[in-house]
Amino acid sequence: MGSLTLNNLTKSFGKTEVIKGVDLEVRDGEFCVFVGPSGCGKSTLLRMIAGLEDVSSGDVMIDAARVTQLPPSKREIAMVFQSYALYPHLKVRDNMGLAMKRAGASKPQVEAAVDEAARMLSLEPLLDRRPAELSGGQRQRVAIGRAIVRRPKLFLFDEPLSNLDAALRVATRIEIARLHHELKATMIYVTHDQVEAMTLADRIVVLDGGRVAQVGAPMELYNDPANTFVAGFIGSPQ
Ligand code: ADP
Ligand code: MG
Repeated sequence: MGSLTLNNLTKSFGKTEVIKGVDLEVRDGEFCVFVGPSGCGKSTLLRMIAGLEDVSSGDVMIDAARVTQLPPSKREIAMVFQSYALYPHLKVRDNMGLAMKRAGASKPQVEAAVDEAARMLSLEPLLDRRPAELSGGQRQRVAIGRAIVRRPKLFLFDEPLSNLDAALRVATRIEIARLHHELKATMIYVTHDQVEAMTLADRIVVLDGGRVAQVGAPMELYNDPANTFVAGFIGSPQ
């Protein structure tokens, strides 16, 4: 299971409120895409869901359990960042296994989980390399593999393809879609790319200035945008 509920979530940095009361339900197994202009709060919202950022008010629930005060390691969430965030001194296999090892799993358990994730992403030939010996696309596949290792309830992706060239973006997008089907996992994916949003999403959440402007299936937003802001993002002529 892996449903997510956000209840009237807010976040202020100093006196500036950047998330202004977000309510959202993401269903178990859903692929939910957050879109919106730079600075609208996409990363902040994702970091609050992951527990990397404190909330100012409101609640984060996973499978109806309140996790608002739990540290990231206790939330059964894995996050993939635009910048990969791999440890440069560790081999791929150790980057992938680190969180599970820290959580107290035995060496054979960690090895089995890393091997399985590596198989799913065809990373076996790379397991003994260090990040500096990988291309950008390979690093991002390792970061995705690392997210799979602990079989989280919820996957969070923050613009994971932004640093890749056009061909790799398409290939990696297709790989993420395949993983979604294979794992039947709940995924929340931030992008400012309309093609990624339209092709990956079961539902798109359009954010505008820290608020939800509209939520709906891609074709619902395309055919019936709530306002010109949403129309501008989804590309439907008004
Ligand atoms: P997005 O990911 O949609 O581009 P962010 O979530 O990164 O937007 O940022 C939303 C707003 O919050 C921006 O105005 C940004 O400058 C501000 N912000 C983000 N992180 C911090 C921080 N640690 N301290 C102060 N302001 C921040
Ligand atoms: Mg961002």
